[in-house]
Formats: sequence, structure tokens, C-alpha cells
Amino acid sequence: MTARIPAKRPPIMFVSPPKYVQGPGIIDDMHEYIGDLGTRVTLICDSFVWNNFGARVTKSCNAGGIELNRFEFSGQASIGQVEKALASAQQADSNVIIGMGGGKACDVAKAVGARMRCKWVTLATIASTDAPTSSLSVLYKDNGDFHSYELHGKNPDLVLVDTEAVARAPARFLASGMADAVATKFESAMCAIAGSHTILGARPSSAGLALGALAWDNCRKYGLSALKAVEAHAVTPAVELIVETNTFHSGVGFESGGFSGAHSVHNGITHLTESHVAMHGEIVNFGILVQLTLEGRADADLDEFIEFSLPLGLPVTLEQIGLAGLTEDKLRIVSEAATAPGESIHWMPFKVDADMVAGAIIGTDAYVREYLKSRNNLSAPFRPQIR
Ligand SMILES: [Zn+2]
Repeated sequence: MTARIPAKRPPIMFVSPPKYVQGPGIIDDMHEYIGDLGTRVTLICDSFVWNNFGARVTKSCNAGGIELNRFEFSGQASIGQVEKALASAQQADSNVIIGMGGGKACDVAKAVGARMRCKWVTLATIASTDAPTSSLSVLYKDNGDFHSYELHGKNPDLVLVDTEAVARAPARFLASGMADAVATKFESAMCAIAGSHTILGARPSSAGLALGALAWDNCRKYGLSALKAVEAHAVTPAVELIVETNTFHSGVGFESGGFSGAHSVHNGITHLTESHVAMHGEIVNFGILVQLTLEGRADADLDEFIEFSLPLGLPVTLEQIGLAGLTEDKLRIVSEAATAPGESIHWMPFKVDADMVAGAIIGTDAYVREYLKSRNNLSAPFRPQIR
């Protein structure tokens, strides 16, 4: 019998880093993994990270016979920083670029490595985003405005995550990373239902979708105990699991499973400088609730997500992301930016316009405030940016 071959359409694609290594004190052993890739390293990290870990990095590199050139990163993943780091790495004739610290240092290292066509590595000391795993750099102008997404066509050659460092950092980073991770479940599900494509221009793979679902499962089951352990600067199996979830499941899940509404709402909200008191994942957390509202979900689904968020200190209202008393004009800026051409919100299974997003933002905030009042819960405490 003749096989029924469907009309040509985008392929299914799954991408990931070739090696992911996570553990307490991995910084001390980094030479064992990096030595396979090259022996002339440019390390991109800010002064805070260097002051905390520089001596251990130097010791490990010396043990592995690795030449170390350090580029002092300003903290902003800007085009200017990429150019300066590139010049430094070229002068040192480096064959491995390492981004160490959080997502922004990783994004600069990926962009420099891609320009040099050499190996690049991420060494994460916090678990607040999935940037260490992805093949994407989010780059800004030197004044802090968004510049571009750079897709590098490959993931880092090696991802290292030091869970002891993660447990030493403020627990808020871990909570923010959990929000970014669970967004993968909600966003990829919509992307798949819509038959949309991922950031790779491919159809979502079931492995990517499964990692998104696993992220939600892990954060619900182990998120709070992991957070409490990190508040006490302890590394437990739950911490290890959540760090892997935030960094690996989230990164691979969104690239190979897709994303859609919540991150577009985030992108819209970040146009208002008042929101810059909140971290990436914290704004995404509110974006997930807005996406659920747009989907027309039942109150019980919203309640479930609110109940997940509160013990983790994740924001669920506009006020908690710095947007108390949002004016009509500012709401318009957010909703138009969230639905600008190219935004992933257009990968939802139905057409979404600015009016729908504006309504969902206001409706979500009103519902959550009422929910908190009825529970006599004065909402999660609002915490200023730590660093
Ligand atoms: Zn994200």
C-alpha cells in the first residue's frame, strides 16, 4: 500500500548542549571538563563573581595547564560589551570562551564565542534563568534598551552549574528561575496545540514538551523545599533537582518545545522602567497568569497557579512587579509591545491583539487581588532587587 505522505511542513527538531555537568563545588573541577575543549580561555564575569570565585577559578585553571584571560564584564549584556570582550579574547588568542555568573554573562560569552567560531562554555553560579543552556543571546543597547535576539545555531559546548554557589546566592534567584521554568510548560503546550513553530523554526518535539511538563511537576513537588534549603544555604536533593529544572529542563524545553504568551507579556511589561525592580522570571510569572486568562481558563486553574506562586514569593499582581496604579497610556504601551510583529504571543492557537492583552492584564490583576482579599492573604511580600 502507498504510504500517505503529508504535505511538506517544518521538521520536528530537538537541540541541546552536548554536555551538562552540575554539582556542588564544580568550580574547583572545571579544568577537568574544559581541558577537552581547549587550553586558552577567556573568562567573562563581573567583579562580584570574580571576587567570590576568582581564586578557585585560577587554581583550577592552573591545575589543568589552562591559560586564563579574564574580561571584566560590566553586568549588562550589551553589544558594546560583546565587542570589548571579543577584542580581549582575540588579543589573548583564546580558543574557549566562558561566561560565568548569571544569564547576562552567559549571553555575552555565547555571542563572543559565535563570532570567534571557537568553543564556548557557560558556568552558572545562580539558577535564575535558562540562559546557560540555550543557543540564544538576548542583547541590549548600551543604554539598556532591548537590541536583539541572536540565534547562534548551536548550544554551549559545555554547561557547568555549581550548586554550592547557587545555594550561597539569594534564594530569590532560585524562585525567579522556577517561574521561568514552569512558563515552559504553559507556553509550549499552547505552541504545540496551535501547530506553531519553536524559536528554531521547527515544530515542537515531544521531548521538548515533556521537559516543559516535567519542569512544572518538579517545581510543584520540590520547589518550596528547595527554596527553603537555599534560604538556609544548604544543598539538598531538592535543590539539585530544581537547579537542573531551572537551567536544563527549562532551556531545552523552551527551545525544542516552544514558547508563546507569557514571555510576550513579559516583553511588553519591561517597556515600563518601573517594572525593572522585578527579575525576568518574576515578570514572566505574572505573564503566565495573564496567558491563562487569555486562554479562558477556569478560576480553579488560576487559583492553582496563585497557590503555587505565593509560598515561593513569586509576584501575582501588578503591584508586586512595580506597576501599582497602571495608567491607560502605560497599559497601551505594554499591550502593543506584547503583540508587536514577531512576538511569540502570535504562536498561541488563536489570534491575540493588544486589546485582548490589555483586558487580560487588568482582569487578571483584579481577580488575583480579590482572591488574596478573600483568603485574607495580604499577598507575597514585595522585595526590592537584590543585586
Ligand atoms: Zn525566560
